[in-house]
Amino acid sequence: MNPLDTPIAYLKGVGPKKAELFQSELEVFCFADLLTYFPFRYVDRTKIYSIAEIQPDMPYVQIKGIISKIEIMEGKGRNNRMRAILSDDTGSIELVWFTGIKWLKSLIKPQTEYIVFGKPTEFNRRLNIAHPEMEHLQPNEIKEMGLQPVYNSTEKAKHGGLDSKTIGKLIRELLEQHPAAFAETLPNEWIQKLGLISRNQALRHIHNPPQWNELQKAQFRLKFEELFYIQLKLLNQLGIRKRQNPGFIFEHIDGHFHKFYHEHLPFPLTNAQKNVIRDIRQDVRSGKQMNRLLQGDVGSGKTIVALFAMLMAIDNGFQATLLAPTEILATQHFHNLSDMLQGMQLNMRLLTGSTRKSERKSLFAELIDGSLNILIGTHAILEESVVFHNLGLAVIDEQHRFGVSQRARIWQKNKQSPHILVMTATPIPRTLAMTLYGDLDVSVIDELPPGRKPIQTIHRFEISRQKVFDLLIDEIQKGRQAYIVYPLIEESEKVDYKNLFDGFEQIKAAFPQYQVSILHGRMTPDAKDFEMARFLKGETQIMVATTVIEVGVNVPNASVMIIESAERFGLSQLHQLRGRVGRGAEQSYCILVTPYKLSEEGRKRMETMVRTNDGFEIAEVDLQLRGPGDMDGTRQSGLINLKIADIVKDQKILSLARNSAQLILDNDPELSQPQNNILLATLHQMNKGKSNWANIS
Ligand code: ADP
Ligand code: MG
Repeated sequence: MNPLDTPIAYLKGVGPKKAELFQSELEVFCFADLLTYFPFRYVDRTKIYSIAEIQPDMPYVQIKGIISKIEIMEGKGRNNRMRAILSDDTGSIELVWFTGIKWLKSLIKPQTEYIVFGKPTEFNRRLNIAHPEMEHLQPNEIKEMGLQPVYNSTEKAKHGGLDSKTIGKLIRELLEQHPAAFAETLPNEWIQKLGLISRNQALRHIHNPPQWNELQKAQFRLKFEELFYIQLKLLNQLGIRKRQNPGFIFEHIDGHFHKFYHEHLPFPLTNAQKNVIRDIRQDVRSGKQMNRLLQGDVGSGKTIVALFAMLMAIDNGFQATLLAPTEILATQHFHNLSDMLQGMQLNMRLLTGSTRKSERKSLFAELIDGSLNILIGTHAILEESVVFHNLGLAVIDEQHRFGVSQRARIWQKNKQSPHILVMTATPIPRTLAMTLYGDLDVSVIDELPPGRKPIQTIHRFEISRQKVFDLLIDEIQKGRQAYIVYPLIEESEKVDYKNLFDGFEQIKAAFPQYQVSILHGRMTPDAKDFEMARFLKGETQIMVATTVIEVGVNVPNASVMIIESAERFGLSQLHQLRGRVGRGAEQSYCILVTPYKLSEEGRKRMETMVRTNDGFEIAEVDLQLRGPGDMDGTRQSGLINLKIADIVKDQKILSLARNSAQLILDNDPELSQPQNNILLATLHQMNKGKSNWANIS
């Protein structure tokens, strides 16, 4: 056994109680886990600030001074506290404690020199440091403290004695116990080429950095390694899949494809659309299974691309299916495509949760005997009872709404996997896409159909609601329609529904001359369809709704999108909502209504929306504001659990990692050359992964 696989309980200083906490709280099961439990920041204890230098927005700092005037104030809660003044040659600062006062009082001595370490804040316009660490030290001891790592811990773990300091001590113990070099995981050639330090040195320096520049080298090495292996794994999987899964070959396009292109095309395709169709055509002729991600901003025209792909399948004797995340969207795709395919002698049907039994029966029969060419639907398609005659292509729309496992289920709808095209309007920043969908080929539609006027976005405070209504009236008088969207989240569902219904009543009262629709998740599918259809036909002018209208809904005559409590939406969601308008040739508007008081982040979101219509730019800002963990569709992926790298900050390292991995696989697709043994071995080790360690207890 590799000594690093030793269960954590066997480390000196870790008793059964700490071992239990390591496992349950910090997911540290064995020595190797502890070794890669990296500090999340460092404090520089080499520098001592003078008190005059201290500002309230500084991170943790270290100062040196003499304590005077220790006072205890008695009171309730935070009024019960102890204060002391620390002074050096340049000034003085207040130190405060709210707990452990009795004990501290006996410990801290006036007129004595201390090294004080903590985070300065401002309270009542005076600087103070709450609960600082205090040390009574000699100057030469200070130098030895150096750069100190800080480790994440949980409340429960801290309570059980596993605070940052203890974790650090245990890691140092482990490093001492293991004087031999830690095994290398990267080929020598690449270490040389990229000027990396060894894994052994990196692991030691990351926990015990002698200097900033050495720490940086250690961080770079370990970040690179982490990202490199994710990329190598994804690209390797992609390669294996391409080698192992022969794809159906769609050679012909001289039937329906040809006919549709020449006789039924409703508008000329944009160049971007043509390019993507070309990408797909190449994939489906290659003899390898297609796994392609199509990214295109809302309204960029992905649906017709999907249709062309489906026609390729049909021309070669296969069936095709299109999956949408909601019933509204599936139904809309069905109607939209039915219109386009009129006069085309194709059999297309719709399957959703509310498709009636009798209808299902005939649908399933046509599906099995092959007379059904295209099946459009929701998750209902994934049920076992849905059996195709020969599924050649599956299109998954708004991919981020589907989990990875659902993507896998569609693969199994045939003995031989069908070609897969997944489409998303969530513009995923390139670096994130690489990490999340590194096993897919990516095409992008980066051009909107001609003649669209960019949507004008306006931010208004609630007090200016009359201005919002004025614009609404103007537009409706021109014959257009409007959406008014309210936030709805699980945690505050009750209040949110009340706001929605209040809003609905208010709008009806304010605009008695207009018809108003309402759409939300608690309605039955029939009622939703009914309201959606009325709005689509122009029988109602205003649609009050929750975000159920977010995905894919297409009403070209709608020119106003009013978003209430816009500060409660994330950036990508705001962008998705805005994309519901601006689908016709008219000038469209998006109005973001918020209270006057906004958080810094909220303000940034509104500014970004007003400034740009570019989904990719918005996604970048979103990623920076929220971090990848919160981005749509990334939550279930599990790939985002990085130990040291940061997808936002380390984009350059990620690119380097990906390019390196690609180069290696290009030269040695199966990683069978001797210098790459180390890569294959590490990949195997990764695949065995945590689950093994988790069993040891
Ligand atoms: P999305 O990419 O958001 O799914 P859709 O496929 O729904 O976009 O297309 C949005 C609208 O643009 C639809 O009304 C569609 O008919 C129209 N459209 C798509 N491509 C073109 C084009 N090349 N020229 C003009 N209109 C187009
Ligand atoms: Mg769409």
